[in-house]
Amino acid sequence: MFKSMKWPLALVVAGAIAISVCILFFLSLKEHESQVTALQRDYTFGLAAMVAEDLSDEMRALPLSVDAIKAELNTLSSQSNVIAIHIFDADRQLVTYAYFNDDKAVGSEAIAALPVFGQGAHVWEKRLVAVKKIDYEGRVLGNVVITSQLADFIAENRTALINRTLPYVFLIVCVFVLFAVWMMGRYLKPLQALSRFTESISQSKNYTARFEHTAHYEVARLGKSINSFIDTIEVELTINQEQNDTLVEQQQTMMRLANYDSLTGLPNRQFVVDNLRLELARVRRSKGDLALIFFDLDGFKGINDSLGHETGDLILIEVADRVNNLLCEGDLVARLGGDEFIIVPDREVADVALHNLAQNLIDAFTEPFFLRGMALTVGVSVGIAKASDANFELSQLMSNADLAMYRSKARGRGTYTLFTMDMVESHKRKMSIANSIDNAVQHDELLVYYQPKIDMQGDIVGLEALIRWRHPEFGLIMPGEFIPIAEQGGKVSAITYWMMERVCMELPDLQMLLPSPFRVAINLSGHDLRHTNLFDDIHALFERYQVDPQYFEFEVTESAYLENFANADRFFKRLSNLGCTVALDDFGTGYSSLSYLTRITIDTLKIDRQFIRDMDSSNRCRLVTSAIIDLANRLSLTVCAEGIEHASQWQYLAKHGCDHMQGFLFSRPVPLGEMLNLPDNFSHLISHRK
Ligand code: C2E
Ligand code: MG
Ligand code: MG
Repeated sequence: MFKSMKWPLALVVAGAIAISVCILFFLSLKEHESQVTALQRDYTFGLAAMVAEDLSDEMRALPLSVDAIKAELNTLSSQSNVIAIHIFDADRQLVTYAYFNDDKAVGSEAIAALPVFGQGAHVWEKRLVAVKKIDYEGRVLGNVVITSQLADFIAENRTALINRTLPYVFLIVCVFVLFAVWMMGRYLKPLQALSRFTESISQSKNYTARFEHTAHYEVARLGKSINSFIDTIEVELTINQEQNDTLVEQQQTMMRLANYDSLTGLPNRQFVVDNLRLELARVRRSKGDLALIFFDLDGFKGINDSLGHETGDLILIEVADRVNNLLCEGDLVARLGGDEFIIVPDREVADVALHNLAQNLIDAFTEPFFLRGMALTVGVSVGIAKASDANFELSQLMSNADLAMYRSKARGRGTYTLFTMDMVESHKRKMSIANSIDNAVQHDELLVYYQPKIDMQGDIVGLEALIRWRHPEFGLIMPGEFIPIAEQGGKVSAITYWMMERVCMELPDLQMLLPSPFRVAINLSGHDLRHTNLFDDIHALFERYQVDPQYFEFEVTESAYLENFANADRFFKRLSNLGCTVALDDFGTGYSSLSYLTRITIDTLKIDRQFIRDMDSSNRCRLVTSAIIDLANRLSLTVCAEGIEHASQWQYLAKHGCDHMQGFLFSRPVPLGEMLNLPDNFSHLISHRK
């Protein structure tokens, strides 16, 4: 109702002043009345006394002269307030009376009043009745009773008084009220300023402002208190702001840590997973499609192991840079962990576009990385999968891309593969094989096939023991399929042990079949060479089956040997000491540097099948093959060529001094039972074709 407390306060003060003045005025009137009454009483009684004195003589006369008395009374007619005068004799009998102002009503009253009132002036029925004895020398002659106006007299006086004083009273009230309002305004002004100040603070939130009005009393203290409140708020706000900044910073750091890879600065798995989930839902709704490209670095583990993790980290940073340069705006690249990366291209999912992107990705890695003075070439294996093939399910999509990537790796690295549904089947088969290896070893589902190695005279000088698996569901499985799976599952050592034991058991039969000295070659994988008890196990088997170690050769690939060099070298030296020989399998396909040949413990080089296969068509292959033979001869190593299918290959190898040969031309790998069918000598094959 009121905007400022000034007005209700002014009203209260004005009311209080008015009421006080009215009360005072009323009390003054009352006082005035009582004074007028007392005055009138004295006057009337005095008048009665005077009349009594004057009538003393007339009242002693005998007989009484009523006319004289009356004449005396009439002299009082000028008395304005006197209404009536009654004269009584000593016996209280009315002698005469006089009425002024024609008020006859008082006659009987006066007569009645005489016995009631004693001498004196009395207020009676709004009138004043004065009774005075008329006496002479102590003898009572009668009574004078004067009745005079009182109420009207008082009223007249009051009215006159009011008329005289009321304007002054009103003026005083007004002056006081105005003064009070002015004082109120004056004293409330700082309070209003304070109120405006607090209002402006609450609106502007500017806590640097302070109340600077020169106020007094409580308002000054209130102003100070408010200022100190604002001080506290300002300090608290500063602290809050600092804490808030720290929190925001921490939140951002946590966001970065949670969503970004600290090494490369690329988004991490979490980020990609979260985004992909939304993106998949979006493309499913819009009936679109989305592609995912997985890639990892070929041989990254080797770099980490040989050159240290710092170099590995530098490569990963460089990889992130190269891939980023390759992508367009909107494409997403992230590091999933280790050397695994993912790209979510923001472009059409047409096969051609994906093939181009994947090829560009592979091409981006043909240039070597120049790090710490070294030029390192690191390839990538790429797998591509489409959301529509995974029913738009994230885990399925990732697993499909992963499968495609592993297919690229299996195909020889530095390649890309687009996921196809048959990969799921082959993956399932892989899983099933991986899960049943233990069972296969325990329940003798494995088989040994032997493939003869022939010398230049056509005689069998050795047999390579090659494993097969008669799987209850999949039929005969070749080692090329299940050995890598066993290696990945860490189960290859059990297979090697089974193989060794089986060959030891069958060796007496082989000795009967092949009268001239020969060696049985056992293939070892890189995982076997990490298994430190392998030598003891082999030695124990030789002991148990009373086998001469000179019947054994061990084949190992150059990569398996070199990746576990220390272990492998010690292991092969110990085997050599027993009388076994060592052959370097698939020579020519692995390491490019030949310097390691001077450091390793081997007796034979087995030229990889791919050189022999292409020998007829490629002069380069023929040259490499002859160079390998020459190299082996110079290093005093035996050379064995594998994969000979045609006599022409045999002839070329024989001409260049190859020691031993192995291939379908002579015999496919066969089980022990079929060894009986093998001829004693294979020279007829060669001479026949000549
Ligand atoms: P490898 O040690 O290089 O064995 C030679 C492979 O070449 C054998 O394949 C053999 O059947 C095949 N081969 C021989 N001559 C010819 C030919 O004229 N033409 C063609 N096309 N192929 C020929 P297989 O038996 O399938 O073995 C494949 C690989 O599996 C082996 O290559 C070896 O690395 C591995 N392996 C076989 N048995 C074992 C084993 O008991 N343990 C381990 N760790 N690996 C084994
Ligand atoms: Mg071999
Ligand atoms: Mg081989």
